[in-house]
Amino acid sequence: MSTPPSKPVVPLEAGAGPDNPPCPACGEPLFGWIDSRPGLAGPVRRCESCGLGVVGEPGGTDEALACLRELGSDSARIANRAGFSAWIGGAGWAGLEPQTRYLFTEEAVRRLVANRDQVVSRARWSPGTGVALMWQTILNGCTFGRNIALATLGQGKAVPATRPWQRRLDLVISALAAVPAFLIAVPLELLAAACGRGSVLTLRMDLL
Ligand SMILES: [Zn+2]
Repeated sequence: MSTPPSKPVVPLEAGAGPDNPPCPACGEPLFGWIDSRPGLAGPVRRCESCGLGVVGEPGGTDEALACLRELGSDSARIANRAGFSAWIGGAGWAGLEPQTRYLFTEEAVRRLVANRDQVVSRARWSPGTGVALMWQTILNGCTFGRNIALATLGQGKAVPATRPWQRRLDLVISALAAVPAFLIAVPLELLAAACGRGSVLTLRMDLL
């Protein structure tokens, strides 16, 4: 009996091309993740290797590092694109805030800060903001606009629905669904964190 031929292994580099520009963090090709939609600067691509997400046309490593620096030079709190909420939310993930350029993961940050001789020395789950992001992601599945509840509470920016009646309805839905969504979000986020896939991480970065 002959053994079946093993599956050919295609290196990620083989996917590189005009539609798959290199990842600013690790250089592997980026692949399409989410089509362009209101509130975003363009379609969203993601890196299959380090997990970095890029909204619109990707810049270079320096631009991605500059965006990371805006979150902090020694410590940065990131909405984790490798988190469970990003996976279940997709286009409705609450981490996709307006004007966001880069969607970081711990590994993407690790690759990026190596360019400035830093290492990620500690990565900690941020429980409060993590549950909030998961909660808003669940609510985004029920509303026309995005991130309505958190913006109403003064956290981040919303992407409101286009029509006035939709915006009014979104406020009602957000209020009615707030408690049920919270009761789902807490165990989901705890489970995500237990699996190392929490929604929000605080990363400590030290010089080598
Ligand atoms: Zn990458």
